[in-house]
Amino acid sequence: MSASFDPQVSLLKDALRYAEEYLLNIDERPVFPTEGALDALGAFDEPLPSGSTEAAETLALLHRVGGPASVAQVSGRYFGFVNGGALPVGVAARVLADVWDQNSAHYVMSPVAAQLEAVCERWLSELLGFPEGTAAGFVTGTTLANLSGLATGRNELLRRQGWDVVEAGLYGAPPVPVVVGADTHATVRKSLALLGMGDAHMHVVPVDDQGRVRIDRFPALGVPALVVAQAGNVNSGAFDPVGALCDRAHRDGGWVHVDGAFGLWAAAVPSLRHLADGIDRADSWAVSAHKTLNVPYDCGILMCRDRAALESAFRASAAYFQWSDHRDPMRYTPSMSKRARSVELWAVLKTLGRDGVVELVEQLCAHARAFAEQLQEHGFRIHNDVVFNQVLVSCNDDSETERTLAEIQTIGSCWCGGSTWKGRPVIRVSVCSWSTTPDDIRHAVTSFCAARDRARTPD
Ligand SMILES: *Cc1c(COP(=O)(O)O)cnc(C)c1O
Repeated sequence: MSASFDPQVSLLKDALRYAEEYLLNIDERPVFPTEGALDALGAFDEPLPSGSTEAAETLALLHRVGGPASVAQVSGRYFGFVNGGALPVGVAARVLADVWDQNSAHYVMSPVAAQLEAVCERWLSELLGFPEGTAAGFVTGTTLANLSGLATGRNELLRRQGWDVVEAGLYGAPPVPVVVGADTHATVRKSLALLGMGDAHMHVVPVDDQGRVRIDRFPALGVPALVVAQAGNVNSGAFDPVGALCDRAHRDGGWVHVDGAFGLWAAAVPSLRHLADGIDRADSWAVSAHKTLNVPYDCGILMCRDRAALESAFRASAAYFQWSDHRDPMRYTPSMSKRARSVELWAVLKTLGRDGVVELVEQLCAHARAFAEQLQEHGFRIHNDVVFNQVLVSCNDDSETERTLAEIQTIGSCWCGGSTWKGRPVIRVSVCSWSTTPDDIRHAVTSFCAARDRARTPD
């Protein structure tokens, strides 16, 4: 007989009760924790206990002190960063998978995780209109997916010149030019830095007023380059002309990697597909399923047209490894041990189906447009074409914009962050949760107006 799991079942029941209390009260609390809730975090600040604590007591403390100090990201009025909500079936599937505690490095560690990865890989290709047989690796987010795609692209471009990076390293390798847009995401630069291809070797292409790469300014390199396109500018939501970038890069034998952290799903939506025209011609794609698709954190995906190139970049061997004739998930990622992310991704895709994904993405975009229209009616300025889920907002002058943002965050009935757009401060709205309703948008607009009134009132 193995140990009794009765205590675990009892704790899970406690967790479920706490979850219920949390979710049912989410609209009663401010989106960002109160000062009181933040001060109460001091309760965690104790010396490492030498003795043990009842597990139920530990969980109760977490609920009592931790819950109120969490950001109410699951509410429909969280518009910060590009943080997606979590669809109910994804959360529930994740809880089940957490109970299973699967390690999905090898098939023999978790046949179910491996099978669901294989299914998600195929479904994603179909959904996004990518070439049949496109490979997918499941990682933590787009940061790791960018790193993985860029490593694969670089290694493949060098392999075609007779250079095996895994064997020979990079010292003495022929240089691989890198081309990015001026608005490329910070994680692309970070990935390139980690890959030993820092800023100094980067061709930075100017962008237009929406942050899209200007194809007319693409450098004439005449040699194979690693080209990064963006499907969804992190501020404006704008899409680079991906198809045209592919044509330019491929003419010289280059590799195109698409950072589609939140925008890649446009490829799955007939009414938005034009934004990503030609995206199926790219070589690798990165996306965060925890953003627009509303899979629970964390869930990133790297997709790659050339399965052999991806497997080659991540090849590793040890006597104790157990390769199988099935899918061995670690072949496609930098990680070995990893949790079974495919479970909740599969659960979301299975539940939504193609129509449900289309509906979810279209709903986020419609809410963003409504948000922008209502703000404009109240005299706010909108700085971007609202083509996806992002809205950039300002008031009459920079200082009023900054003070209004601070007041929005203080009032707490919704939450947005800020950014800089063309050198000026903006309030940055991202509609990224299934749980947002038209009512939430109206409430948020009311809060924007109240915040601006406060900002205009002299102290
Ligand atoms: C969010 C984002 C990333 C980073 O994704 P993570 O999931 O946070 O790792 C990269 N690129 C763009 C355009 C993003 O919006």
